[in-house]
Amino acid sequence: MAAVLMDGKLLSEELCLEQKQRVLALREMGKKVTLSVVLVGNDPASATYVRNKQLACEKLGIEGSTVMLPEGISQQELENKLDALCEDEAIDGVLLQLPLPKGLDEESALAHITPEKDVDGFHALNQGKLFSGTDGVVACTPKGVIHMLKRYQVPLCGKHAVVVGRSNIVGKPCALLLLKENCTVTVCHSRTENLADITRQADILVAAVGKAKMITADMVKEGAAVVDVGINRVDGRLCGDVDFDAVKEKAGYISPVPGGVGKMTVAMLMDNVIGAAEKRMKK
Ligand code: NDP
Repeated sequence: MAAVLMDGKLLSEELCLEQKQRVLALREMGKKVTLSVVLVGNDPASATYVRNKQLACEKLGIEGSTVMLPEGISQQELENKLDALCEDEAIDGVLLQLPLPKGLDEESALAHITPEKDVDGFHALNQGKLFSGTDGVVACTPKGVIHMLKRYQVPLCGKHAVVVGRSNIVGKPCALLLLKENCTVTVCHSRTENLADITRQADILVAAVGKAKMITADMVKEGAAVVDVGINRVDGRLCGDVDFDAVKEKAGYISPVPGGVGKMTVAMLMDNVIGAAEKRMKK
């Protein structure tokens, strides 16, 4: 039997209606919602991601602006710019598009986005809050993964979740969020031995590696929920880390690429921006 499709496009449209209402409610109280995206250099993929974020803002009535900085900018100049945006009372959220051009230190730059305006959830304080299970800004992709699983009512409590990938922005936060949902969590990475033996035990399998179609049907348990975070380009077309056509015949739930987690990521960014504006309004 073919798996239930976890449709990120549909979910993001559903969220959009609710988010528009939240933006409207703030506007009625005299508060505009604003996001400032900082783009350094001329990487075409980054430019596309930034454009998508701007379009999402426009759809919701969020005032989005992009600050374009030259490839050759110094670390100091970049950090001064981030400091200035964070000090600007009119701005609710500040986002630094990654990756930065070679020679710039991402970790140091991210530390210049104040935790309250850190709508990507990459600041060490927000990561620490996730680690300790307290409320903070949660990184958009992992947040989107959990939202998707919950919205499709995938049972989480007590289930075995396997996350393949341990990056700070996807794999690790995904694992922590699944732990918060009372899953029993295993994290795999490039040094994991017998990967397929582990993934076959997963009730929930999250693939966040960046290797096209590496999760094959024989690595998946019958009926598992498979979330594909990977974005890869093969012969000019996008595909995930999961061999979708074969795995969908075995899994219970599966997310596609494109139209899956990527859509959720943008929707969760909008959620974080509106959330930041709501918190500032309350203050
Ligand atoms: P990273 O490159 O930072 O991390 C990849 C992880 O995969 C690492 O932990 C690495 O292990 C692990 N890995 C590599 N090879 C293997 C292997 N053969 N077996 C098991 N694990 C392996 O990538 P990101 O976490 O940033 O992104 C992962 C994917 O998700 C990419 O395709 C990226 O484009 C996509 N992505 C999608 C988003 C979306 O919105 N849909 C948002 C962000 C990312 P080790 O730590 O040992 O090196």
